[in-house]
Amino acid sequence: MIRTDVLVIGAGPVGLFAVHQLGIIGLKAEVVDNLDKVGGQCIELYPDKPIYDIPGIPECTGEKLTKNLLEQIKPFNINFHLNERVQEISKEKENWKITTNKNKIFISPAIIIAGGVGSFEPRKFSIKNIEKFENKNIFYSVKDKNFFKNKKVCIFGGGDSALDWAIELSKISEVVLLHRRNEFRGTQHSSELLKKLEKEGKLKIKTPFQLDSIEGDSNVKSIRVKNDNGEIEKITTDYLLGFFGLIMKLGPIAEWGLNLEKKTIPVDTENFQTNKKGIFAIGDICTYPGKLKLILSGFHEGALAARACFKLARPNEKYRFEFTTTSKSMQERLGVKKVD
Ligand SMILES: Cc1cc2nc3c(=O)[nH]c(=O)nc-3n(C[C@H](O)[C@H](O)[C@H](O)COP(=O)(O)OP(=O)(O)OC[C@H]3O[C@@H](n4cnc5c(N)ncnc54)[C@H](O)[C@@H]3O)c2cc1C
Repeated sequence: MIRTDVLVIGAGPVGLFAVHQLGIIGLKAEVVDNLDKVGGQCIELYPDKPIYDIPGIPECTGEKLTKNLLEQIKPFNINFHLNERVQEISKEKENWKITTNKNKIFISPAIIIAGGVGSFEPRKFSIKNIEKFENKNIFYSVKDKNFFKNKKVCIFGGGDSALDWAIELSKISEVVLLHRRNEFRGTQHSSELLKKLEKEGKLKIKTPFQLDSIEGDSNVKSIRVKNDNGEIEKITTDYLLGFFGLIMKLGPIAEWGLNLEKKTIPVDTENFQTNKKGIFAIGDICTYPGKLKLILSGFHEGALAARACFKLARPNEKYRFEFTTTSKSMQERLGVKKVD
């Protein structure tokens, strides 16, 4: 069980900046995100695209913005609980009890939901009873490439993730790349490199093929794949990796008894609190008259929600407004001023 001042749900740009705002006023935060990395939409959907409307930064990519936000919260040594979805929230006396899908429990007087458009989840193979092989022989992301070393791996998909992992794993594994179309959607450079590797016998490419069935009882032994003419081929394999993109689901957030308006959470703009005391919503997931789904709006929302959390986490202390330029305590927390 982890006790904290504030639990932040979502490590997108808005959740990350909220952590900064909490940190400078002396509150400890833990962050949970369903994805295997921080950055939310900036990292998942447009890491290489330039953003032109972050105040004071004329141009930066989604990836660069995420790196900068992480750098800015480094002094606070935040624990990120990645690959974990917040599943349940319940009241426990003055606190909230928050449970993830991996049964991790947090106890906190305040929760900031910075869940964006909901949790991103991988699009999965559409084969019946496939779940029994998931996280054993079938994966939708790679955490440690060495897990696949010297194994037979079938990689499905035509986008950058499928192509990049086929190239990377071909160095250590026996790779077959399968895609339902003849053309790949990934970069031209990756497509050309794959063809070169195929010519050199470093991997196999099978298009246009889709998964038809899986053979094996407790473990996958082989798969059958089908092409557009209905022809079936059998491939023996140890692992299947599927990279079919992500679906965005509001997911469990919809079950927490919060008021919802078109898959967003209405908030009070004074402090970004929802209809439940101690639960705040900021960033793309919140709504109020005039809401702009922009990163800069989310930063402002996080600043106000953080101050409201202070009152819950430190009920016996008085919050004092301070500037980072002149506040000794804020500078100490940021590690830029030595403690006397
Ligand atoms: C192509 C594109 C270009 C864009 N360009 C700009 C731009 O130029 N300028 C601009 O200001 N904005 C832009 N945006 C919008 C901007 O990216 C969003 O406003 C911003 O990402 C919202 O941040 P967020 O932190 O609220 O949510 P997100 O970035 O969506 O992050 C939310 C995170 O919460 C996690 N999450 C959700 N539910 C749970 C749960 N139950 N448990 C655990 N984790 C959960 C998700 O996995 C996700 O990582 C663009 C968006 C797109 C798609």
